[in-house]
Amino acid sequence: MSDVAKSKLRGLTLPELEAWVQSTLGAKRFHAQQIFRWIHATGATSAEGMTDVAKELRARLAEIADLEPLATDLVQVSADGTRKIRFKTHDGRFIESVLIPEGDKVTQCISSQVGCALDCTFCATASLGFGRNLGADEIVEQVYRGAALAREAYGEERRITNLVFMGMGEPLHNYEHVVRAVRILTDQRGMNFSSRRITVSTAGMVPQIAKLGREDFQVNLAISLNASDDKTRDVVMPINKKWPIAELIGAIKKFPLQRRRFVMFEYVLLGGVNDSLEDAVRVARLLKGMPCKVNLLPWNPHPLAPYQRPEKDKVVAFQRALMDRGFAVYIRKTRGDDIDAACGQLAARELQPAGSERPALELSGRRPAGLRVVA
Ligand code: SF4
Repeated sequence: MSDVAKSKLRGLTLPELEAWVQSTLGAKRFHAQQIFRWIHATGATSAEGMTDVAKELRARLAEIADLEPLATDLVQVSADGTRKIRFKTHDGRFIESVLIPEGDKVTQCISSQVGCALDCTFCATASLGFGRNLGADEIVEQVYRGAALAREAYGEERRITNLVFMGMGEPLHNYEHVVRAVRILTDQRGMNFSSRRITVSTAGMVPQIAKLGREDFQVNLAISLNASDDKTRDVVMPINKKWPIAELIGAIKKFPLQRRRFVMFEYVLLGGVNDSLEDAVRVARLLKGMPCKVNLLPWNPHPLAPYQRPEKDKVVAFQRALMDRGFAVYIRKTRGDDIDAACGQLAARELQPAGSERPALELSGRRPAGLRVVA
């Protein structure tokens, strides 16, 4: 246990840290509580500064526990105040996180994996393929680094008010570490982040949606829907071949929601692909009777996907068609697109081949030449 814990101390929940402190350091549970508070409430990145921890324990901790923070490799600032942070992991991988200020709120979009295995054809991250899962320590670290940067960028009083797992990766494909990160972030003795302000967004991993619903905490659930029929969704999101729309909707309907909570459906509008009025009517049929809201996201172009941004009037007509059928529907403002921080663009800049052109879409299930397909 000590070898694993050595580099992953920040990724242990309090009960896990208590067990580690007792078995590895031969110390008491209250020492674990002190250490937990230092790491997760104060943001300590070394044992030396944990002043109320006994000196010998600090020295031992410094020897065997790695509390090195994620390296902030690059921060890009958008004209609209959005900040994209690129982190370098201990094994030299890059992950991205985005800070989005809005009024007195700051939302942080965090990554759960290096790259992604799911291969959604509109998404820049998909072109990276799957690197590896992030550990819970790397997930919470994005939040701590993000919080520090938010204070620096937007003022001392500004806090991260919302966390969304919508960065690189499919969070439910890294279930164990995402759930552990949620437990750590929401622990009252640590950062004490409200689980009601955490959103887990999934492309539709049906068994994991059910599992998430059985956890003893409740986070917000967002579903990346992006098509109104299986034929189109099979192409836009190949995960649909495994868990088609009917199964997905069935799982969402069973997801336990507290009173006045709702499921958020994300719908990336791809010009000429899924943005017709017929699509809107089918979406309304699918979502009928569900406590939900719909976010429409006009696709953010990048050269690695064969799509076009939808026309403005089609976006408005799509919204209107759903609203007329009683749904709360928002057109998500594009944020940070000048720094490739907008939805679906993470990792785009690094990948963009010189002189690349965007090929026309064929609903054939095949990715355009030059893109890497991950099984
Ligand atoms: S949209 Fe999300 S799930 Fe799909 S490939 Fe991109 S990161 Fe992965």
